[in-house]
Amino acid sequence: MGGRVPIVDYLVLDDGPAHLVAWCCEACGALYFDRRNACARCSGRSFGRRTLARTGVVRTFTIVHRAGPGVEVPYVSAVVDLDGGGAVKANLRDVAPDPEAVRVGMPVELVTWVAGVDDEGTEAVAFAFAPVAATVPGGASGPAGEGGGDGGT
Ligand SMILES: [Zn+2]
Repeated sequence: MGGRVPIVDYLVLDDGPAHLVAWCCEACGALYFDRRNACARCSGRSFGRRTLARTGVVRTFTIVHRAGPGVEVPYVSAVVDLDGGGAVKANLRDVAPDPEAVRVGMPVELVTWVAGVDDEGTEAVAFAFAPVAATVPGGASGPAGEGGGDGGT
């Protein structure tokens, strides 16, 4: 059979580009990845789903040198402040696991990768963040438009 399933339920793969969704407190706007009965900030009990941005900046990071069996080390574990709200702990990819190579405030974007395949061929898809490649210094605004070389399927 096959197919793709996200490794966590707040990663959405089948609705446009992969993105994260959070529960958003309707009273105060606090964001949570796990389902809560009440908001930790305001005790509100109504939550809606909110699509989070695919881009953000590194708030803090750690170079991880030890991990469980089968996990390649070292790697970079970071907390990413997403544009427009929300923060998520995730690994950084496509960057050297070196304090010189990563910096706080570095713009990053969501990337997905296949973490494993089960016996039926279903791919477990995980997410991480990678440095935004085509960063324009000085701050061009708005989407870049065409030219990504990402045409068709
Ligand atoms: Zn709240």
